[in-house]
Amino acid sequence: MGATALWLDLDGTLIDTWRRHWRAYLNACAALKMAPGSFARFKTLKRRGPRAADALIAGLNLRQKDRFRSVQKAWIEHPSLLALDRPFPGTQEFLRWAGLRFEVHLATSRTSEAKALHQLDSLGLRGHFRRVVVTNGASGRPRDKATLARSQKGATLWVGDTEAEAFAARAAKAPFFACSRGIRERAILLGLGPAAVFSNYAALRRALAPLATPKTSGR
Ligand SMILES: [Mg+2]
Repeated sequence: MGATALWLDLDGTLIDTWRRHWRAYLNACAALKMAPGSFARFKTLKRRGPRAADALIAGLNLRQKDRFRSVQKAWIEHPSLLALDRPFPGTQEFLRWAGLRFEVHLATSRTSEAKALHQLDSLGLRGHFRRVVVTNGASGRPRDKATLARSQKGATLWVGDTEAEAFAARAAKAPFFACSRGIRERAILLGLGPAAVFSNYAALRRALAPLATPKTSGR
């Protein structure tokens, strides 16, 4: 039997994306001439999920909301904002540890595959992954992570900070390891039926270790 496939999420799981999200939000507020409010409020509402985050634009009419979302979307993968992302402390060490025990893959939901790959290169992360899959439905790519999960043979594990990875795990009948330092708060993640919730790599390693298949003996 081959090593178990470990599918890692990028945004909010391996890298801290709050600066990028905040900047995209501020730019959208500016475009709509809307007062942004505090970062603490922004983060709290985003962490409670998409419906709670709608409160951030509650004062806008429907057309303005569409415009707000499209400005935000246009900025969220802008190179100048992607440059604000930082790996969480210990990311390189964690990926080296994981690479000795699993087939490590990355699945990220981004509009632009080229920008995602460029970012992985500039952060020095790309070499850790056997495969990098950008789930955006373009040119035969999986539409989302659940679609990707259903196409995988063999045992998989899913690690991420949102519903996307929980649904992927469910589709694969595989465990979901939930990262609570990303875009969703712990209470939301607990409702998604995770095998474990972690807020640092030491805790994730403890959760994953019993599931590891040493590559040298497994192939
Ligand atoms: Mg994420």
